[in-house]
Amino acid sequence: MKLILLGAAGSGKGTMAKKISADFKVPQISTGDMFREIAKQGGTLGEKVKKLMASGSLIPNEITFEVLKKRLEKDDCKNGFILDGFPRSLDQAEMLKNVTDVDAVISIELPFSELEKRLVNRRICSFCGDIDNVSYEGYTGDCRKCGKKLFQRDDDKPEAIKNRLEVYKKSVTPLINFYGDKVMTVSSAGSPEETYAPVKTFLSKLEAKA
Ligand code: AMP
Repeated sequence: MKLILLGAAGSGKGTMAKKISADFKVPQISTGDMFREIAKQGGTLGEKVKKLMASGSLIPNEITFEVLKKRLEKDDCKNGFILDGFPRSLDQAEMLKNVTDVDAVISIELPFSELEKRLVNRRICSFCGDIDNVSYEGYTGDCRKCGKKLFQRDDDKPEAIKNRLEVYKKSVTPLINFYGDKVMTVSSAGSPEETYAPVKTFLSKLEAKA
């Protein structure tokens, strides 16, 4: 199954991708995670990526697609994948179409005011990548899974958040139109389980048809 997950930062896209990946046995391919890795490695490319990411801006298409294409060529993508964070523009959707078709697009929706709230309070584990939120009950600043310190991503700071949400708003409608009847829309206002239930039903039906 070849899937795309659309959703603004803070919509719960990463959480949904992990659930889909586990249930439908397809790798989660997060361009954001790949770029965070590249930024960590440093060098000319790493520094460039780090700077763009910190301001909430997009990485140029040529770099992004090069990184993605290499990943899609790996063996674990033979039976499908779930793209988390790609495409983010019509140009990227066209680039993808030139190398592969997709079966479905899941679009996760939440009002921007709620997204902003979630993002400024979001914290991430420096070790295992688990996500927590300052406003959740029992928050201590340490990871609930592995006990290591949580930190705030540079692009979860207010100025970058505004920019990221604006960038997303501009791109999403053209993408939804581009993928047409392949798109399934779901609200993430409820719990992750409530959000995932209709997605799982939809994908199970799609899998049965294939
Ligand atoms: P994310 O974790 O998906 O919110 O992505 C974090 C950052 O990585 C974005 O703000 C961009 O700077 C960069 N990025 C991730 N995916 C893409 C993409 N498809 N195109 C361009 N930049 C991207």
